[in-house]
Amino acid sequence: MSTQEQSAATTPKTQSPDVVVVGAGTAGCYAAATIAREGYDVVILERKPESEAGHIACGDALKGADSFPEAIPKSKLEPAFTNTDVDHGRFEIPQEDTVLEIPIPGELAVIDRWEYGRRIIDGADDVGVDFHYDTVVKNVLQDDDGRVTGVEAIRAGDPRTYEADIVIDAAGSLSVLQDHVDFSASSFDTNVNYTHFCSAYREIVHVDEPVEWDDALVFKPTERAAGYLWYFPRTETEINAGLGFQMTEEPMKLVDDLKRDLETRPEFRDAEVEDKLGAALPTRRPYDSAVHPGYMAIGDAAGHVNPTTGGGIAGAAYGGKYAGEAAIEALETGDVSEKALWEYNERVMDHFGARYAALDVYNILSTAVDVDDLMGLLAAMPGEKLAEALYSGSTSIGPKLAAESLLNSRGHWGTIWTLFQTKRRADDLLELYEGYPHHPAALEHWQQRRDDIMEQVYETTGAEPKY
Ligand SMILES: Cc1cc2nc3c(=O)[nH]c(=O)nc-3n(C[C@H](O)[C@H](O)[C@H](O)COP(=O)(O)OP(=O)(O)OC[C@H]3O[C@@H](n4cnc5c(N)ncnc54)[C@H](O)[C@@H]3O)c2cc1C
Repeated sequence: MSTQEQSAATTPKTQSPDVVVVGAGTAGCYAAATIAREGYDVVILERKPESEAGHIACGDALKGADSFPEAIPKSKLEPAFTNTDVDHGRFEIPQEDTVLEIPIPGELAVIDRWEYGRRIIDGADDVGVDFHYDTVVKNVLQDDDGRVTGVEAIRAGDPRTYEADIVIDAAGSLSVLQDHVDFSASSFDTNVNYTHFCSAYREIVHVDEPVEWDDALVFKPTERAAGYLWYFPRTETEINAGLGFQMTEEPMKLVDDLKRDLETRPEFRDAEVEDKLGAALPTRRPYDSAVHPGYMAIGDAAGHVNPTTGGGIAGAAYGGKYAGEAAIEALETGDVSEKALWEYNERVMDHFGARYAALDVYNILSTAVDVDDLMGLLAAMPGEKLAEALYSGSTSIGPKLAAESLLNSRGHWGTIWTLFQTKRRADDLLELYEGYPHHPAALEHWQQRRDDIMEQVYETTGAEPKY
């Protein structure tokens, strides 16, 4: 019998911690560490065995590493940062025979994702979080009023029940928990479907000779729109190479397409593949509301990913922090109602949710325009403006720059006009999200106003409605 199985066999069939967190990823570890630091009893349930926990498909690019929440100290994570010299993106545009060098604002580290995963688990463990590995959550328990009261799981083969004041769903993309909750007693966002996701795959590739671009994140469009390949240098000889596509599109053969591109690049001749992983990730706006009585969803389970870059680690860490703080407040007052947990939604929208919703508009545009047109247009735009657009959800393009871009982008004027119109709609959204409601009762009216803007987005871009 393994240590895991022995400990599973000796723990009671029903346990009652203050908070149950499902998933030992970034969101779950930050939420649990935040709550445990206040002395509450928190259990993380993780389906993987301890030896595999933290091994998660990722491009390994950690943006905003300088300002991560403090529940897990940065010093704990730093040994997993294998490359902190990256300061720009290198956009290869074969259609235009162009390479754009675009600065990346803020601190960025390329990381050894598994090592980082082990370190955040360790950081949560240090402050008293209890981990139950080999524990697959199968069902969510609710009382007669619809309040979530716990979960049912299979732990190392044995059925277990966990009763808790609050359940935090940090189970990642397409979280199975949400299939089991009856959300009719709240305004929890259930407008979610597979077309809001991207399917992505990556390999860790070892090369003998150092690459020349070890200070850059390399991006390249896939042959079809709404997808890109990436080459992110963990070190000058260890590269995270991957690609993804929007699930609105015809499925790509990810493994073959990556192989084909690797074969065209001389720097990967005789390269060795060390690890392979793939997964889905949300590339959509954040959930309008991710709270329900006794329950909050965070990280990928609530759409906290930058929908244009696919970066979700920072959103997961902050989503975890804000949900953790809302949980502490609810435990202290004994009120776990939707209204009591609502502030979590507000903090997410205020910090990054509004920005991600605006960026989603460009994602929608990218599904409707021709890839050559889009690339021609990108090649014509000034790099720093592109960087601004990519990370802030908006960019200030004055008349002089607009005229220059137009001159440089002859042949793509139709697309550039659509882009400028789309940018206006993205700005309208940003403004609307600034007035995100302070209580659940006002959500429906706000959603109507947002949906009116989205109608204009579909009209401007010619894209199929996404939501
Ligand atoms: C190929 C790829 C590349 C990416 N590249 C980047 C990048 O370079 N930079 C970046 O910032 N982001 C990137 N992302 C996104 C990023 O990985 C996610 O946004 C982030 O990991 C989300 O963290 P999370 O804690 O919400 O979910 P996850 O990290 O997915 O953690 C969820 C955890 O829940 C567990 N779980 C799931 N279901 C159950 C269940 N029923 N019972 C118990 N446990 C369960 C899982 O085993 C897992 O450990 C990438 C994603 C993919 C797929």
